[in-house]
Amino acid sequence: MNIILMGPPGAGKGTQAKLLEDTRGLKQLSTGDMLRAEIAEQSPLGLKVKEIMDAGSLVSDEIVIEMISHRIDHADCVKGFILDGFPRTVAQAEALDKMLHEKGKDLNAVIQLSVDEEALLARIEKRAAESGTVRADDNAETLKKRLDAYKAQTAPILPYYEGKGMLKTVDGMADIDAVTAEIASILDGAA
Ligand code: AMP
Repeated sequence: MNIILMGPPGAGKGTQAKLLEDTRGLKQLSTGDMLRAEIAEQSPLGLKVKEIMDAGSLVSDEIVIEMISHRIDHADCVKGFILDGFPRTVAQAEALDKMLHEKGKDLNAVIQLSVDEEALLARIEKRAAESGTVRADDNAETLKKRLDAYKAQTAPILPYYEGKGMLKTVDGMADIDAVTAEIASILDGAA
């Protein structure tokens, strides 16, 4: 089963993806995590994307499409994968359709975690305070920029999947357990 988890930064996509890995054996593929790993390694790609990411802007479609295309061929994706943070533009969504078709794979569900922006800011601040180590892109100003990027570039993907009858929306502000249960019922229905 291959799914997309969508929602603005801080909506809880990462948390839910980890739970789905444990319960269903799916592999979480987070383009944000992959890019941060490149930065940590100071690879040529990491050096190229660091400034863009620190500013809360999106890296080029080409870079992330290539990364995902490679990654889904790995053996750990054989039971399926959860895309977290990809696709983020309509061009990425179209490229994903094409690549899955070419690889003989399907998309089973697109789940959007919806949020309340003010509550989201409070959640991000709490996450930063609790972790002690603040992610460079986790301060309020950058979050605002990432939310704006989400609204401008990523939210337009929603009608794309809605038009295909694939989009399901879950209240991302609910308790983690309630969100998990709702996602489970959607996936059981899609299986
Ligand atoms: P995330 O951890 O998913 O919030 O991603 C962190 C940052 O990585 C984003 O603010 C972007 O700079 C970059 N990024 C991650 N995924 C993508 C993507 N699919 N397209 C473009 N940029 C991305």
